[in-house]
Amino acid sequence: MNIILLGPPGAGKGTQAKRLETEYGLKQISTGDMLRAEVAAASETGQKIKGLLDEGKLVPDEIIIAMIESRIEQPDCAKGFILDGFPRSTSQAVALDDMLQKKKISIDAVILIKVPTEELVQRISQRVGDDGTRRADDKPEVVRSRLEIYESQTKPILPYYEKDGRLKQVDGLQTISDVAHSIDTILNACNN
Ligand code: AMP
Repeated sequence: MNIILLGPPGAGKGTQAKRLETEYGLKQISTGDMLRAEVAAASETGQKIKGLLDEGKLVPDEIIIAMIESRIEQPDCAKGFILDGFPRSTSQAVALDDMLQKKKISIDAVILIKVPTEELVQRISQRVGDDGTRRADDKPEVVRSRLEIYESQTKPILPYYEKDGRLKQVDGLQTISDVAHSIDTILNACNN
């Protein structure tokens, strides 16, 4: 089973993706984590994109698409994957469909975790990673820019997935376990 998790920064995509990894045996593919790893390793790509990540701006499509394409071919994605943080624009959504069509892979569910902006600002300002550190791009001024980019570039993807009936929505204001339950209900329906 292959899933796309959509939603603004702070909606809880990463938390739910990690749970789906353990409970469904799927692989989380977080473009944000992959890009941060490139920056940490100071790779050629990492050096090119560091400034964009620091400012919360989107990394060029060609870098992201190539990264996703080689990632989903890895053996650990054979049972299925969860895309977390990708696609983030309509051009990425279209490129993903083209790529998957060539590979004869389909997406079973596109799940939007909906959370109002005021709640996101509050959540992100309190967010601390598993290692106890805070993300550099969780600073208030960068968060504002990331939320604006979500509104202007990522939200327009929704009609793309809505028109072919693939888009499902869950209320991200629920508790983590209730969000998980809502996602499970959607996935169970996809399996039947
Ligand atoms: P995230 O961890 O998903 O919030 O992503 C952190 C940052 O990585 C974003 O603010 C962007 O700079 C970059 N990024 C992550 N995913 C993408 C994507 N699909 N397209 C372009 N840039 C991305």
